[in-house]
Amino acid sequence: MKLNIYTISNQIQAELSGTAAQDIETISIDSRSLQNGPQTLFFALVGPNNDAHLYLEDLIAKGVQHFVVTHIPENCAGKATFLVVKNTTTALQQLAAYYRSLFDFPIIGLTGSNGKTIVKEWLNFLLSPDYNIIRSPKSYNSQVGVPLSVLAINEQHNLGIFEAGISTFSEMENLERIIKPTIGILTNIGTAHDEGFPNIGEKIKEKLLLFQEAEILIYHKNKTIDAFLNPKLKTFSWSCKDEAADVLITKKAVLDKTVLGIRYKADNFEIKIPFQDDASIENAIHCMMLLLYFGYDQQTIEHRMELLYPVEMRLKVKNGINNCSLIDDSYSSDFQSLKIALDFLESQKQYPKKTVILSDIFQSGLSNEELYSKVSQLITSNKINRVIGIGATISEFKNKFINCVTFPDTDAFLAAIDSLNFGNETILIKGARTFQFEQIVAALAEKTHETVLEINLNAISHNFNFFKSKLKPTTKMMVMVKAFGYGNGGFEIAKLLEHHKVDYLGVAFADEGISLKNAGIKLPIMVLNPETTSFAAIIQNQLEPEIYSLKGLHAFLKIAEQKNLKHFPIHIKLDTGMHRLGFEANTLDDLIAVLKGNQTVAVKSVLSHMATSDDPAHLEFALSQLDLFEKLSSKLIQELQIQPIRHILNTSGISNFTEAQYDMVRLGIGLYGVSNDAEEQKQLENVGTLKSVISQIRTISAGESVGYGRRFVAERTTKIATIPIGYADGISRHWGNGVGFVMVNNQKATIVGSVCMDMLMVDVTEIPCKEGDQVIIFGKNPTVNDLAKALHTIPYEILTSISQRVKRVFYRE
Ligand SMILES: *Cc1c(COP(=O)(O)O)cnc(C)c1O
Repeated sequence: MKLNIYTISNQIQAELSGTAAQDIETISIDSRSLQNGPQTLFFALVGPNNDAHLYLEDLIAKGVQHFVVTHIPENCAGKATFLVVKNTTTALQQLAAYYRSLFDFPIIGLTGSNGKTIVKEWLNFLLSPDYNIIRSPKSYNSQVGVPLSVLAINEQHNLGIFEAGISTFSEMENLERIIKPTIGILTNIGTAHDEGFPNIGEKIKEKLLLFQEAEILIYHKNKTIDAFLNPKLKTFSWSCKDEAADVLITKKAVLDKTVLGIRYKADNFEIKIPFQDDASIENAIHCMMLLLYFGYDQQTIEHRMELLYPVEMRLKVKNGINNCSLIDDSYSSDFQSLKIALDFLESQKQYPKKTVILSDIFQSGLSNEELYSKVSQLITSNKINRVIGIGATISEFKNKFINCVTFPDTDAFLAAIDSLNFGNETILIKGARTFQFEQIVAALAEKTHETVLEINLNAISHNFNFFKSKLKPTTKMMVMVKAFGYGNGGFEIAKLLEHHKVDYLGVAFADEGISLKNAGIKLPIMVLNPETTSFAAIIQNQLEPEIYSLKGLHAFLKIAEQKNLKHFPIHIKLDTGMHRLGFEANTLDDLIAVLKGNQTVAVKSVLSHMATSDDPAHLEFALSQLDLFEKLSSKLIQELQIQPIRHILNTSGISNFTEAQYDMVRLGIGLYGVSNDAEEQKQLENVGTLKSVISQIRTISAGESVGYGRRFVAERTTKIATIPIGYADGISRHWGNGVGFVMVNNQKATIVGSVCMDMLMVDVTEIPCKEGDQVIIFGKNPTVNDLAKALHTIPYEILTSISQRVKRVFYRE
């Protein structure tokens, strides 16, 4: 895009402040992106839980010159050009709607409860031989995602595919104004997001708003929807039973495919698709309908539909060989998604050295010369150390990149892989589907078991912002990442928290803090339980100890004095009733005597910990702790004449005793998506999903037994599946022998017999499944809370028990 700043200012009805010299070429809302530059217009979005105005000073320092804001922060006035508006999200939407109006090629608008992203990706695949397509990247379908997608249109595009997702009233009208689809597809109306609507009718009505001005709507004919359709809207419908539909379809499973019989006007023909599940079949039919509408001949439809493939929408971080970390984006290659993947690489890089393995890029709408120049700029601004190009076209433009090797195809790369010396680097693997980069991922990935704990980084951000929004904006946040981030991963989570500008990390032991510092985490880190033997290491690594006894204080002072330290930060823990660690009331005078006038250390914070913040039955006790904390900490402050950060609340404290937030809170389990309050739980997002696969399936007869000690004896013919996860992975033996279950294809499969060290067996007699199918141990269903309840323990123990041999895979949606 190229837009004049005055035009933009007019379109969003802004008040302009500053001298605007530049044309705008990119729009950004992500303060962390390395792609922000002088030609970027940065929209400072304000959410219920966060406010991008906080980052403006940093951005100006990095060279960003143009901002859309609700107010000009004091420290930024006069330093850049500001477009001041009432609401920055609305302004972004207005700009997108204006920008959309500059183009008049066909635009396909997709909405529905499920399947939007898959239909969009498949249509892109099916139509790309004939069109220059602009589509929403990933699942950018929200009030912010849609405008960003539309603002990426350029002059060369001649077809658009955008998806719109809504969760409540009035959202669709905004999106309609921005997308203005000429062709509509309603994928399906399920139960997702029903909370935002009183009933299904209201939901359908709202979704149909997307198609107000479309020339045609493609949909699965259905009486409920028909009742709400505007009679003026032309439709092109399909059905498996309703003769009134334009296209009548029959389905038949053949081996691992589905054969669809199509009756359209006078024609009858068959197509094959490589799927058998209902959702994929429905999605594929919607795509086929569009091809029919566009007038494709039967042969082309048949040929292209058979090539449809499973869509992986997520960027995943995996451990690689030789200490590498891999970012797997091996399913698409277009300019927009490359930008997103590079931002993700920056936010997740574990090693300073960054490598990108990149295939030819398709459908940019630009000439190759222009395209690879832009790609090279992008690679340079993201400070990528080496580029490995795979494909004929990227090879041709090799000299546009610094430190680049190229290969004609994936096989040639794989043959040369050993000579490329991969080690200690973060590698982004990004290729178009046809290049089969999954082979590269397989070659570079550390060989792991099939059991993984998947961690949703978006959910962590959501949960963080949720708790932050309960607090005053000035209250600091310490996030507890002890025990390997409650089992979820240390470095990756710390890195994400650094982006969220948390004030402190908390760990239990010095070695946890040291490994975070070694991995490049710059945040201050408090060590809750520093052992005397680790004091030297604490000082050397600039960790900050919690001091909880006079003995500890003297020992620390001794070492600190030997090293001639001045004002080394320490944290004083008070015991207000937990009776675990901390100075009790009667030791306070001695503590004050030692610290008074001491120059070696500085009391950075004063803290205590609550024993019953989660339990209303002990309200009185909790209040007495808060009371005592107020008393003891005030005394320290007065006598020592200091201004430390005071903090006492953990997760449930934040929810139940918000008024006692003092200067900082310590968020733990809530970040990982667990609450002991049912209402609050609904507002958190699930973070971890423990997954495995079926290794083997067998059928046993009545009277036969399963596992050690023959603790399960079949009463009837029983189908048994074996799953490669056991108590050595952290699955309690109490979960076996008919107590617990795993989910196989969304159905409960009871664990039969005892859980073994590395495996367990489940009853799948009633569940359609095959070897290799995915198994969920916990995640959205059952939740860690469900498991904890059934096992008479707490979610903390379940999470931290997952052993380190279970690989953690981090992803963003
Ligand atoms: C673990 C811990 C927390 C966090 O507790 P959650 O219940 O997980 O929020 C806070 N403070 C201290 C001292 C802790 O040990």
